[in-house]
Amino acid sequence: MKFYVMSLFPQMILDGLNTSITGRAIDSGVLSIEAVDIRDFSNNKHMKVDDYPYGGGAGMVMQPGPVCDAYESIALRCSGRPRVVYMTPQGHTFNQHMAEEFAKEEELVILCGHYEGIDERALESIVTDYVSIGDYVLTGGELPAMVVIDSVSRLVPGVLNNDESAQTESFSDGLLEYPQYTRPANYKGMEVPEVLLSGHHGNIEKWRHEKSLERTKKYRPDLYEKYMAENNNNS
Ligand code: SAH
Repeated sequence: MKFYVMSLFPQMILDGLNTSITGRAIDSGVLSIEAVDIRDFSNNKHMKVDDYPYGGGAGMVMQPGPVCDAYESIALRCSGRPRVVYMTPQGHTFNQHMAEEFAKEEELVILCGHYEGIDERALESIVTDYVSIGDYVLTGGELPAMVVIDSVSRLVPGVLNNDESAQTESFSDGLLEYPQYTRPANYKGMEVPEVLLSGHHGNIEKWRHEKSLERTKKYRPDLYEKYMAENNNNS
């Protein structure tokens, strides 16, 4: 899968994703992340890309020209018009379902704003999806873009070593994941639950499902209610 990230601080994206699992996937060619510097498309001799907001008010707004031109330079290299995700606190809140949808794309363009945001006309011209990572305001769209890329990438076949692990995780079945344990079996007097050492797969599955329900009910009652309604299950 190929990600194009449009940003004024492209180095942040590369520094953030060239390590660990995503870094390995980039090295092996399963993922490709190209950070496109919007400033390269400035038509100003000082390389300026922002200006004061019409109507007054605090902060600077990114101008439409460089954003649209950066997009066109990417679109030229794509098969058809690519999906363009604008990271914004005003968007739909990102979730696992959206990550699954985005993972179906061969190419995905992610647009990061900075300062007060981007001129509305640029957004209207190119953006297909408005996505927020939560109800708080950050200085720029780079961290949100990395959040989206990271979560989408781990759903791309070949990125995780073990295909299984993307399927049994929190949210994949509408519930939070069960607790995990590894060696030692006794850590400072704290024992691993007996059932996990039993080798009885049926009992282990049952225990894990119960723990998933228990945690989801405790920490995410909203998800729990939904799961119960959908599974028509009163246990
Ligand atoms: N004035 C804007 C906020 C600008 S924050 C408003 O009130 O809506 C600057 C940039 O950071 C935004 O353009 C966006 O790309 C990014 N950003 C900030 N918070 C975000 C969030 N919660 N989710 C996604 N992107 C965010």
